[in-house]
Amino acid sequence: MFKPNDKIMIAVSGGKDSIALLHILLKIEKAFPKASLCAVTVDEGIIGYRDEALKFAIDNCKKLGINHAVTSFKELYSYSLDKIVKVTSEKGESGRGLTPCAYCGVLRRRALNLAARKGGVDKLATAHNLDDETQTILLNILHGDALRMARVKPVLADVHPKFVQRVKPLCEVPEKEVALYAYLKRIEFQGIPCPYASTALRNDIRVMLNRMEEKHAGVKFTLIKSIERIRPTLEAVAEEVKLQECRNCGEPTVGKICKPCQMLRKLDIR
Ligand code: SF4
Ligand code: ZN
Repeated sequence: MFKPNDKIMIAVSGGKDSIALLHILLKIEKAFPKASLCAVTVDEGIIGYRDEALKFAIDNCKKLGINHAVTSFKELYSYSLDKIVKVTSEKGESGRGLTPCAYCGVLRRRALNLAARKGGVDKLATAHNLDDETQTILLNILHGDALRMARVKPVLADVHPKFVQRVKPLCEVPEKEVALYAYLKRIEFQGIPCPYASTALRNDIRVMLNRMEEKHAGVKFTLIKSIERIRPTLEAVAEEVKLQECRNCGEPTVGKICKPCQMLRKLDIR
Protein backbone atom coordinates (compact mmCIF):
# COMPACT_ATOMS: atom_id res chain seq x y z
CA MET A 1 0.00 0.00 0.00
CA PHE A 2 2.81 2.42 0.82
CA LYS A 3 6.46 2.85 -0.16
CA PRO A 4 9.03 3.94 2.46
CA ASN A 5 9.43 7.35 0.78
CA ASP A 6 5.78 8.09 0.00
CA LYS A 7 4.30 11.51 0.55
CA ILE A 8 0.89 10.68 1.98
CA MET A 9 -2.16 12.88 2.31
CA ILE A 10 -4.94 11.70 4.65
CA ALA A 11 -8.52 12.70 3.94
CA VAL A 12 -9.77 13.76 7.38
CA SER A 13 -13.47 14.39 7.79
CA GLY A 14 -13.36 14.86 11.55
CA GLY A 15 -15.20 11.59 12.27
CA LYS A 16 -13.75 8.67 14.25
CA ASP A 17 -12.45 6.69 11.27
CA SER A 18 -10.39 9.41 9.64
CA ILE A 19 -9.03 10.76 12.91
CA ALA A 20 -8.09 7.25 14.06
CA LEU A 21 -6.34 6.75 10.70
CA LEU A 22 -4.44 10.00 11.24
CA HIS A 23 -3.17 8.77 14.62
CA ILE A 24 -2.31 5.27 13.33
CA LEU A 25 -0.46 6.41 10.20
CA LEU A 26 1.51 9.00 12.16
CA LYS A 27 2.65 6.27 14.53
CA ILE A 28 3.73 4.03 11.62
CA GLU A 29 5.26 6.83 9.57
CA LYS A 30 7.70 7.72 12.38
CA ALA A 31 9.67 4.58 11.49
CA PHE A 32 10.12 5.82 7.90
CA PRO A 33 12.11 9.07 7.91
CA LYS A 34 11.79 9.51 4.13
CA ALA A 35 8.00 9.34 4.21
CA SER A 36 5.79 12.31 5.04
CA LEU A 37 2.22 12.92 6.13
CA CYS A 38 -0.22 15.75 5.64
CA ALA A 39 -4.01 16.01 5.81
CA VAL A 40 -6.92 17.59 4.00
CA THR A 41 -10.53 18.23 4.93
CA VAL A 42 -13.26 18.95 2.44
CA ASP A 43 -15.88 21.32 3.78
CA GLU A 44 -18.98 20.40 1.79
CA GLY A 45 -20.99 23.16 3.42
CA ILE A 46 -23.42 21.27 5.65
CA ILE A 47 -24.46 23.66 8.38
CA GLY A 48 -24.53 22.20 11.88
CA TYR A 49 -22.50 19.18 10.80
CA ARG A 50 -19.36 19.77 8.81
CA ASP A 51 -18.50 23.00 10.60
CA GLU A 52 -18.29 21.04 13.85
CA ALA A 53 -16.39 18.14 12.27
CA LEU A 54 -13.92 20.57 10.74
CA LYS A 55 -13.06 21.81 14.22
CA PHE A 56 -12.16 18.25 15.31
CA ALA A 57 -10.04 17.79 12.19
CA ILE A 58 -8.18 21.06 12.76
CA ASP A 59 -7.64 20.39 16.49
CA ASN A 60 -6.34 16.84 15.97
CA CYS A 61 -3.95 17.87 13.19
CA LYS A 62 -2.66 20.74 15.31
CA LYS A 63 -2.13 18.47 18.31
CA LEU A 64 -0.25 15.93 16.18
CA GLY A 65 1.75 18.56 14.27
CA ILE A 66 0.39 17.51 10.88
CA ASN A 67 0.10 20.03 8.04
CA HIS A 68 -3.58 20.42 7.29
CA ALA A 69 -5.30 21.96 4.28
CA VAL A 70 -8.99 22.79 4.04
CA THR A 71 -10.86 23.00 0.77
CA SER A 72 -14.56 23.59 0.24
CA PHE A 73 -17.37 23.05 -2.24
CA LYS A 74 -18.10 26.76 -2.01
CA GLU A 75 -14.58 27.66 -3.04
CA LEU A 76 -14.34 25.02 -5.81
CA TYR A 77 -17.87 24.95 -7.21
CA SER A 78 -19.30 28.26 -5.93
CA TYR A 79 -22.07 26.46 -4.03
CA SER A 80 -22.25 24.60 -0.74
CA LEU A 81 -23.95 21.19 -0.51
CA ASP A 82 -26.80 22.79 1.45
CA LYS A 83 -27.36 25.15 -1.47
CA ILE A 84 -27.21 22.29 -4.00
CA VAL A 85 -29.80 20.37 -1.97
CA LYS A 86 -32.01 23.46 -1.90
CA VAL A 87 -31.70 24.01 -5.67
CA THR A 88 -32.34 20.32 -6.49
CA SER A 89 -35.40 20.13 -4.26
CA GLU A 90 -36.79 23.32 -5.83
CA LYS A 91 -36.28 21.75 -9.25
CA GLY A 92 -37.86 18.47 -8.14
CA GLU A 93 -34.52 16.77 -8.78
CA SER A 94 -34.43 14.89 -5.47
CA GLY A 95 -37.45 12.82 -6.45
CA ARG A 96 -35.58 11.44 -9.46
CA GLY A 97 -33.09 9.48 -7.47
CA LEU A 98 -30.20 11.91 -6.99
CA THR A 99 -29.77 12.14 -3.25
CA PRO A 100 -27.58 14.70 -1.47
CA CYS A 101 -25.03 11.90 -1.03
CA ALA A 102 -24.88 11.34 -4.79
CA TYR A 103 -23.79 14.95 -5.31
CA CYS A 104 -21.62 14.95 -2.23
CA GLY A 105 -19.73 11.78 -3.15
CA VAL A 106 -18.87 12.86 -6.69
CA LEU A 107 -17.93 16.42 -5.76
CA ARG A 108 -15.91 15.36 -2.72
CA ARG A 109 -13.89 12.80 -4.69
CA ARG A 110 -13.02 15.56 -7.16
CA ALA A 111 -12.14 17.97 -4.35
CA LEU A 112 -9.87 15.41 -2.69
CA ASN A 113 -8.05 14.62 -5.91
CA LEU A 114 -7.49 18.31 -6.62
CA ALA A 115 -6.14 18.83 -3.09
CA ALA A 116 -3.85 15.81 -3.33
CA ARG A 117 -2.48 16.97 -6.68
CA LYS A 118 -1.96 20.46 -5.35
CA GLY A 119 -0.15 19.01 -2.35
CA GLY A 120 2.16 17.04 -4.68
CA VAL A 121 1.59 13.80 -2.76
CA ASP A 122 2.03 10.21 -3.97
CA LYS A 123 -0.91 8.65 -2.13
CA LEU A 124 -4.27 9.81 -0.87
CA ALA A 125 -5.33 7.70 2.11
CA THR A 126 -9.02 7.52 2.97
CA ALA A 127 -10.51 5.97 6.10
CA HIS A 128 -13.03 3.60 4.49
CA ASN A 129 -13.51 0.70 6.88
CA LEU A 130 -14.85 -2.83 6.35
CA ASP A 131 -18.44 -1.65 6.86
CA ASP A 132 -18.09 1.09 4.22
CA GLU A 133 -16.57 -1.34 1.74
CA THR A 134 -19.22 -4.03 2.15
CA GLN A 135 -21.96 -1.40 1.87
CA THR A 136 -20.39 -0.17 -1.39
CA ILE A 137 -20.32 -3.71 -2.79
CA LEU A 138 -24.05 -4.16 -2.15
CA LEU A 139 -24.80 -0.64 -3.38
CA ASN A 140 -23.13 -1.45 -6.71
CA ILE A 141 -25.27 -4.56 -7.06
CA LEU A 142 -28.47 -2.71 -6.17
CA HIS A 143 -27.59 0.08 -8.60
CA GLY A 144 -27.20 -2.53 -11.34
CA ASP A 145 -23.50 -1.80 -11.71
CA ALA A 146 -22.07 -5.17 -10.72
CA LEU A 147 -18.76 -4.77 -12.59
CA ARG A 148 -17.98 -1.77 -10.41
CA MET A 149 -17.59 -4.17 -7.48
CA ALA A 150 -14.17 -5.02 -8.88
CA ARG A 151 -13.10 -1.48 -7.97
CA VAL A 152 -13.80 -2.00 -4.28
CA LYS A 153 -10.24 -2.75 -3.25
CA PRO A 154 -7.51 -1.52 -0.89
CA VAL A 155 -5.35 0.18 -3.53
CA LEU A 156 -7.12 1.77 -6.48
CA ALA A 157 -5.52 1.42 -9.90
CA ASP A 158 -3.20 4.19 -11.01
CA VAL A 159 -5.15 5.01 -14.18
CA HIS A 160 -4.25 8.58 -15.16
CA PRO A 161 -1.40 10.97 -14.30
CA LYS A 162 -3.94 13.52 -13.04
CA PHE A 163 -5.39 11.05 -10.53
CA VAL A 164 -3.50 10.67 -7.27
CA GLN A 165 -3.54 7.01 -6.24
CA ARG A 166 -6.07 6.30 -3.50
CA VAL A 167 -5.45 3.75 -0.74
CA LYS A 168 -7.69 2.51 2.06
CA PRO A 169 -5.61 1.27 5.00
CA LEU A 170 -8.64 0.45 7.21
CA CYS A 171 -10.67 -1.39 4.59
CA GLU A 172 -10.55 -4.71 6.43
CA VAL A 173 -11.14 -3.26 9.89
CA PRO A 174 -14.75 -3.38 11.17
CA GLU A 175 -16.22 -0.01 12.10
CA LYS A 176 -16.75 -1.17 15.69
CA GLU A 177 -13.01 -1.85 16.06
CA VAL A 178 -12.07 1.57 14.71
CA ALA A 179 -14.53 3.11 17.17
CA LEU A 180 -13.04 1.07 20.00
CA TYR A 181 -9.52 2.26 19.07
CA ALA A 182 -10.70 5.87 19.03
CA TYR A 183 -12.36 5.55 22.46
CA LEU A 184 -9.40 3.73 24.03
CA LYS A 185 -6.99 6.36 22.73
CA ARG A 186 -9.34 9.09 23.96
CA ILE A 187 -9.36 10.63 20.53
CA GLU A 188 -11.75 13.51 20.14
CA PHE A 189 -13.98 13.24 17.10
CA GLN A 190 -17.37 14.24 15.84
CA GLY A 191 -20.07 11.79 16.81
CA ILE A 192 -23.26 13.14 15.27
CA PRO A 193 -24.31 11.80 11.86
CA CYS A 194 -24.72 13.92 8.75
CA PRO A 195 -28.30 15.22 8.44
CA TYR A 196 -28.50 13.89 4.88
CA ALA A 197 -27.29 10.36 5.68
CA SER A 198 -30.75 8.93 6.27
CA THR A 199 -31.83 9.77 2.71
CA ALA A 200 -29.29 7.42 1.15
CA LEU A 201 -29.80 3.80 0.11
CA ARG A 202 -26.45 3.16 1.80
CA ASN A 203 -28.11 3.79 5.14
CA ASP A 204 -30.65 1.00 4.60
CA ILE A 205 -27.86 -1.33 3.51
CA ARG A 206 -25.90 -0.43 6.66
CA VAL A 207 -28.84 -1.36 8.88
CA MET A 208 -29.38 -4.63 7.00
CA LEU A 209 -25.70 -5.65 7.13
CA ASN A 210 -25.43 -4.81 10.82
CA ARG A 211 -28.48 -6.93 11.59
CA MET A 212 -27.02 -9.82 9.62
CA GLU A 213 -23.62 -9.45 11.26
CA GLU A 214 -25.23 -9.62 14.69
CA LYS A 215 -27.00 -12.87 13.84
CA HIS A 216 -24.27 -14.39 11.66
CA ALA A 217 -20.93 -13.02 12.80
CA GLY A 218 -18.39 -12.71 10.01
CA VAL A 219 -20.67 -12.02 7.03
CA LYS A 220 -18.94 -8.71 6.26
CA PHE A 221 -15.54 -10.42 6.04
CA THR A 222 -17.02 -13.18 3.91
CA LEU A 223 -18.50 -10.64 1.53
CA ILE A 224 -15.24 -8.78 1.01
CA LYS A 225 -13.30 -12.03 0.64
CA SER A 226 -15.82 -13.24 -1.97
CA ILE A 227 -15.25 -10.10 -4.01
CA GLU A 228 -11.49 -10.63 -3.77
CA ARG A 229 -11.95 -14.09 -5.25
CA ILE A 230 -14.15 -13.02 -8.16
CA ARG A 231 -12.30 -9.75 -8.87
CA PRO A 232 -9.93 -11.22 -11.48
CA THR A 233 -12.92 -12.56 -13.44
CA LEU A 234 -14.80 -9.26 -13.15
CA GLU A 235 -11.72 -7.34 -14.28
CA ALA A 236 -11.24 -9.67 -17.22
CA VAL A 237 -14.77 -9.09 -18.56
CA ALA A 238 -14.87 -5.34 -17.83
CA GLU A 239 -13.96 -3.19 -20.79
CA GLU A 240 -10.79 -1.21 -20.37
CA VAL A 241 -11.74 2.35 -19.49
CA LYS A 242 -10.13 4.93 -21.75
CA LEU A 243 -9.85 8.22 -19.93
CA GLN A 244 -9.79 11.57 -21.68
CA GLU A 245 -9.80 15.12 -20.39
CA CYS A 246 -13.13 16.83 -19.70
CA ARG A 247 -13.89 19.45 -22.35
CA ASN A 248 -15.12 21.79 -19.67
CA CYS A 249 -12.62 21.53 -16.82
CA GLY A 250 -9.76 19.38 -18.14
CA GLU A 251 -10.03 16.74 -15.42
CA PRO A 252 -9.85 13.05 -16.41
CA THR A 253 -13.15 11.41 -17.34
CA VAL A 254 -14.58 8.49 -19.29
CA GLY A 255 -16.90 10.65 -21.40
CA LYS A 256 -16.55 14.06 -22.98
CA ILE A 257 -17.82 15.90 -19.92
CA CYS A 258 -16.93 14.73 -16.41
CA LYS A 259 -19.53 13.81 -13.82
CA PRO A 260 -19.00 16.88 -11.56
CA CYS A 261 -19.42 19.23 -14.56
CA GLN A 262 -22.55 17.33 -15.67
CA MET A 263 -24.04 17.60 -12.20
CA LEU A 264 -23.27 21.28 -11.81
CA ARG A 265 -24.56 22.10 -15.30
CA LYS A 266 -27.80 20.29 -14.61
CA LEU A 267 -28.34 22.50 -11.62
CA ASP A 268 -27.83 25.55 -13.82
CA ILE A 269 -25.30 26.78 -11.38
CA ARG A 270 -22.38 26.70 -13.74
FE1 SF4 B 1 -22.06 13.76 2.13
FE2 SF4 B 1 -24.01 11.91 2.35
FE3 SF4 B 1 -21.75 11.68 3.75
FE4 SF4 B 1 -23.49 13.60 4.35
S1 SF4 B 1 -23.84 11.37 4.51
S2 SF4 B 1 -21.28 13.84 4.23
S3 SF4 B 1 -24.27 14.15 2.31
S4 SF4 B 1 -21.94 11.57 1.52
ZN1 ZN C 1 -15.36 18.63 -16.03
